[in-house]
Amino acid sequence: MLSVKEAEKIIFNLAQPLNEKQDREIVDLSAVDNRILVDSVSSRLDFPHWDNSAMDGYAVRYSDVQHSHESNPTALTVVEEIPAGYQPQITIQPGEAARIFTGAVIPPGADTVVIQEKTRRQADRVLILEAPQPREFVRQKAAFYRAGEVLLPAGIQLKAAEIAILAAAQCTQVDVFRRPKVAIFSCGDELVTPEQPLKFGQIVDSNLFALATLVKEAGGEPLILGIVKDQPSTLRATIQMAIAQSDIVISSGGVSVGDYDYIDQILASLDGEIHFRSIQMRPGKPLTFASFLKNKVLYFGLPGNPVSALVTFWRFVRPAIAKVSGLKTDWEPKFIQVESRGELKSTGKLETYIWGNLDLDRGVYQFRPAFGSHSSGNLINLSQTNALAVLPVGQTLISPQEDVFVMLVGR
Ligand code: AMP
Ligand code: MG
Repeated sequence: MLSVKEAEKIIFNLAQPLNEKQDREIVDLSAVDNRILVDSVSSRLDFPHWDNSAMDGYAVRYSDVQHSHESNPTALTVVEEIPAGYQPQITIQPGEAARIFTGAVIPPGADTVVIQEKTRRQADRVLILEAPQPREFVRQKAAFYRAGEVLLPAGIQLKAAEIAILAAAQCTQVDVFRRPKVAIFSCGDELVTPEQPLKFGQIVDSNLFALATLVKEAGGEPLILGIVKDQPSTLRATIQMAIAQSDIVISSGGVSVGDYDYIDQILASLDGEIHFRSIQMRPGKPLTFASFLKNKVLYFGLPGNPVSALVTFWRFVRPAIAKVSGLKTDWEPKFIQVESRGELKSTGKLETYIWGNLDLDRGVYQFRPAFGSHSSGNLINLSQTNALAVLPVGQTLISPQEDVFVMLVGR
C-alpha cells in the first residue's frame, strides 16, 4: 500500500497551477481579498514618493546645527511652516529652518529634521538645543521601494498588507487567477439531505456541507452536485458532468470494499487514470485519486466517514486546491513540533492522524487530543478542533509531555 508521502507526491505533482493566460480575471481592489495575483506588480512611484519627515520638528541644514548644544544653542530663523500634504515654497538658506510635521515634504535646502523636543521656539526663531545625526528623521525618497522594481511578486495571496500596497500604488483593478472550480457530490443509498425526513437506518449527508465550506476556505469555487445513489449509471452521469465543468472533483463515500469495482469501471470508462485507491493512513485508508483529460481534472474519491473525509481533505485536497489556484509557495500542509498533553495511540500499521487542539500554555503551543471517541464516524468531537497530531507508521504511542508533529487545519 502507498505511504502518505508517496500519495502526496503523486497528487502534488499532478496538481498544476491554472493557466496564466486563460484562467485570469480582473477584480476590483475592494473585492480582491484572498485572491492570487497572476502577474508581478510594479509601480511608477518611489516609496516614499518624496523625502519626508518622520517626526514633528524643524527641517534644518545639518551644517548649521552640527555643533549645537544646550549650553551653546544654534538660533535659526523659521521661514515656513510645512504640514503634511503641503508643497514647500521656500528653499532653506544657511541660518534658516522650516517648522515641519510628520509625513510632510522636506523643503529644498534642508537635509535633517530636529525633533521639537530638542528645540525651543522664540517668536520667529527656533533654538536648536542638541546636534542631530546627519539626515536624522528624514525618510529618504525611494528608501523602501524604487519605481520599476517588483513591488508584489506573482503567485501570492492578497491579504491586508498586500492590498494596502496595491492601494498605495493606485492599482485599483487587479489581475488575479480565477478560482478553481471544485465539483462536490456525496454517494450513498443511505444518504438524505438535512431537509428530508430521516427514516430508520438513514444518514444525513453532512459531508457535502463540510466539503463545500472547506473548498471555499481553500480558495475554490464549489459546484454542489448533491447526493448520488450507489448506482453505476447515475454515478457515471454525475462524474461525467463534474469532469466537464470543473478543475477538481470531490466525491465522498462509495469507495469502501465492495464498491471499488464499479467506481473503477466508471472512472476507466470515462478515460480516467486511477493513480491509487488506498493509502497507508488512518483515518482515510480508502482514498481514490484519479485524473482526467491529460491530468487537467483531478478526482478525489474521499471515504464516506465524516472524519475520514475531512482529514483526507485537509491532508491532500486543500493543498492541491491551493496549488491549482496559482499560489506559488505556501500551499503545502504545515507541520509543527509541539508537546502532547495527552496519550496518543496507534496500531503502528498506518500513519495515524489524531484530531485535537493546539492550545497556548503560557506562550507555548501544546497539543491536546479531542475528548471522547476517536472513531472516524464520530463527527461530534471534531467540533472546535484545529489540529491533527501525526503518528508515523511504526509508532504506537506518544506519551504525555513527549513531542509530536501536528498539522494545522483550522483557525
Ligand atoms: P462509505 O465510504 O460509503 O462506505 O461510507 C462510510 C460511512 O460513512 C457510512 O457509515 C456512511 O453512512 C457514512 N457516510 C457516507 N457518506 C456520508 C456523507 N455524505 N455524510 C455523512 N456520512 C456519510
Ligand atoms: Mg457508501
